[in-house]
Amino acid sequence: PTDINGLADEFIRLSFHGLRAKDKSFNANFKLDLDPDLPKINVIPQDIGRVLLNLINNAFYACAERSQTAVREKIDDYNPEVIVSTQVARSSIIIEVKDNGSGIPDSIKEKIFNPFFTTKPSGSGTGLGLSMSYDIVKAHGGEIKVDSIAGHGSTFTITLPMSK
Ligand code: ADP
Ligand code: MG
Repeated sequence: PTDINGLADEFIRLSFHGLRAKDKSFNANFKLDLDPDLPKINVIPQDIGRVLLNLINNAFYACAERSQTAVREKIDDYNPEVIVSTQVARSSIIIEVKDNGSGIPDSIKEKIFNPFFTTKPSGSGTGLGLSMSYDIVKAHGGEIKVDSIAGHGSTFTITLPMSK
């Protein structure tokens, strides 16, 4: 049984410090809003860890993108933030990765889970993160969905069954 809260805590720090190491000017707040009563669940921890890392990396990247837009447009009250939360539902657990970054235009929303789809410059993204995440979550009997408003941010929600 895997402690999903522990994975969330580990990977949000890893992602933040990784991006920081690559780009000293990178900055964003990150928050954890973890349900202390979240039960441990039977998952492949390396796989679910990868999903979390992917979603969190994407979230910080989207914040960095919106920060650049803010600088260009001389907007000085943008505060980039990524929040990972967990909660218990009836027979499943819910993990949310929420950012207030660049958001996803409607025109590409149906494509983001496709393998090799990326809007990142070549070298920065493989376009495999979300398709891999989708496959991993499905293999665990779960669901992954996205809510996003272009220019305002995105929330990815993963639901994982408690007994699998
Ligand atoms: P990659 O990160 O290598 O581009 P992903 O499969 O992780 O590949 O994501 C595919 C695309 O989905 C990204 O290039 C981006 O356009 C979009 N995307 C994913 N997550 C976010 C996010 N949190 N905010 C804005 N766009 C996102
Ligand atoms: Mg990615």
